[in-house]
Amino acid sequence: MKIIPISLPTPFYIGPVNVYLIAEDPITLIDTGPKTKEANEALREGLRKARIRVSDIRRIVLTHAHEDHCGLARSLRDEAKDSQVLVHSWESGHRVGRLEYEEHRALLTRAGVPPGEIQSMRKMYEGVRKYADSFEADEYGELRDEEELEFSNGALRILHTPGHTPGSCSFLREADRTVIAGDCVLKRITPNPVLSPDPVDPSKRFASLAEYLVSLARLRSFAPTLVHGGHGEPVHDFEELFNRYFRAIRERQTEVIRLIPKTGTTAWEVAQQMFPGADDVHRFLAVSEAVAHLDLAHSEGKIALELGDGKEIYRPISAH
Ligand SMILES: [Zn+2]
Ligand SMILES: [Zn+2]
Repeated sequence: MKIIPISLPTPFYIGPVNVYLIAEDPITLIDTGPKTKEANEALREGLRKARIRVSDIRRIVLTHAHEDHCGLARSLRDEAKDSQVLVHSWESGHRVGRLEYEEHRALLTRAGVPPGEIQSMRKMYEGVRKYADSFEADEYGELRDEEELEFSNGALRILHTPGHTPGSCSFLREADRTVIAGDCVLKRITPNPVLSPDPVDPSKRFASLAEYLVSLARLRSFAPTLVHGGHGEPVHDFEELFNRYFRAIRERQTEVIRLIPKTGTTAWEVAQQMFPGADDVHRFLAVSEAVAHLDLAHSEGKIALELGDGKEIYRPISAH
């Protein structure tokens, strides 16, 4: 079973996205690229080189539902007619664009983000939404942890690896311990644990960073020899990356804890200090990053958290 990477351009800061073709029965595409003319053309070129037509695709599997990964899913499915789109059910919050407005507004308000700022984040995400078609819940098949995607000559084991998003999935070929990991593993940057409602209880926040650490440890348990990420080159030395990620996360936690004054602070204020001058999309990612680290530090008993005036206020433990 051959995994063929195809790199597609995106209009996003992150740069090109990797999608993966498995040119074997049933012909499967893992991720699709954003809904742009450039990505569509590059995908067709990549398929052509592998002697595959869009109409041959039987399965479209999504590592997660960010626009750079899922944007073309619906138009490809419509063109390929008999094909099926598969995604984890916990991606529901992402299915129709990232800021499901009411749930996210509540989370951002609690994180101390001012209303005007929430409004401008919303506008920005409406701009991003045009890079993906939305799906109805009944148009998807479900990816389930530990089940297999079978091929005529082998299988990929589905691993639910939440963190970057609640429904992020990776795929393991056990024969040679190759993993396709989407944005769970990126060679050059630590993936952002994106602020998301908890898929089980949307009034709560998803414990993205804590879940992410568990997912990384789970991937490590398979001792992968090769990991294909959603962006950038493949990772040959997962152990080195794992240790680097863990160090980076711990260092950032120390930095975040240091930014909390005795009088207390919100995640928004911490984000402003961590990333001064962050613009548009990065202001949302900055809040995500701050919330993720504060939540993890709180769950580890390193800082205190209380609700005041509808906002979550973090304080150093020593102040109590
Ligand atoms: Zn992503
Ligand atoms: Zn991505």
